[in-house]
Amino acid sequence: MERSDIRGLTETELEELCRSLGKPAFRGRQIFDWVQNKAVGGWREMRNISAEDQKTFQERLFFQPLALKKEQRSQDGTRKYLFQLPDGEAVECVLMNYDRRKHRDRRTVCLSTQVGCPVGCVFCATGQEGFTRNLTVGEILGQALDICRLLRAEDPEFSLTNVVFMGMGEPFLNYDQVIKAIRILNHERGQKIGMRRITVSTSGIAPRILDLARDNDQVGLAVSLHAASDEERDALMPVNRRYPLEELMRACQEYTALTRRRITFEVALTAGQGSKETARRLALLLREQLGHVNLIPINPVAGSGLKRPLTEEVAEFASLLTQAGIPVSIREEKGTDIDAACGQLRQRREES
Ligand code: SAH
Ligand code: SF4
Repeated sequence: MERSDIRGLTETELEELCRSLGKPAFRGRQIFDWVQNKAVGGWREMRNISAEDQKTFQERLFFQPLALKKEQRSQDGTRKYLFQLPDGEAVECVLMNYDRRKHRDRRTVCLSTQVGCPVGCVFCATGQEGFTRNLTVGEILGQALDICRLLRAEDPEFSLTNVVFMGMGEPFLNYDQVIKAIRILNHERGQKIGMRRITVSTSGIAPRILDLARDNDQVGLAVSLHAASDEERDALMPVNRRYPLEELMRACQEYTALTRRRITFEVALTAGQGSKETARRLALLLREQLGHVNLIPINPVAGSGLKRPLTEEVAEFASLLTQAGIPVSIREEKGTDIDAACGQLRQRREES
């Protein structure tokens, strides 16, 4: 019989499994607590589950923590992890603000949803890799759980407060797995991360924006916009040919109508692009939207030919956007010294 990944199951699924094995349902709740709340690394740590029960469960469930291949620590408290998956593929994820002195109240993990990415945006290191496969629910959650487990070895009180789906991959092309992972992260007997503290970032898969509004209206949405015209956006993000700006903007409006939540429009700024004209066109495009622009200085990846703007250029463009009537924030870049910033995640395949 095929075995399921213990980390990819909801509490209800574990309870049902227990019932089907003739065991009390609360055993399922105990397992859920060990896996999703206590973030243990294996069966042996589940002290209230007898060895005999464990053996029965192991015939139906496998428990395989992700293998930590590399950890990098930035001066700003950001940490980047490279995890190897059971089939030998690898993903990167990032923990931001792990600096107890400066950030007491926010520990944000940035999760990957795919190995590589099929969208192929020209400015993105992951996109340049091509696409290998979707991550399973257990692998998506495994990143958060293993980071939690590793950090608790240093600090038993450690807990995550926020989750962003902004790592490798396009979350909306792995929709069902991402939604299930979100529900488990939010579960009151799991990591208990509030829906409003979870953000999904998409390159603009318009129909899925509406699905999210219907399925989970409290989850935050970030839309990677990056350009104000189809012509420019086509050149940067091939997904725009499938879902052009008009369709994307319509989906965004419907999203806010359904959820009443503000959208974050991500705009990566390249050196020399921040003109008054660009600001005006963005303002026109976003005129009917409820949301704000989050300005990201582009992180140049090899081969893209794009250049990072100067800090003054970013500030100047931000004030042009403000003058044009768009609320704007500037992204504080994390972990640039360890290539952990937006768009820099890429598993470098080691030559064997
Ligand atoms: N696939 C999703 C989420 C992962 S990318 C998406 O595209 O939204 C997370 C964010 O990083 C996106 O806003 C993306 O556009 C941005 N990004 C990618 N490459 C970048 C780069 N080189 N510099 C700055 N931001 C980048
Ligand atoms: Fe994929 Fe997002 Fe990178 Fe585009 S920016 S290639 S959608 S991960």
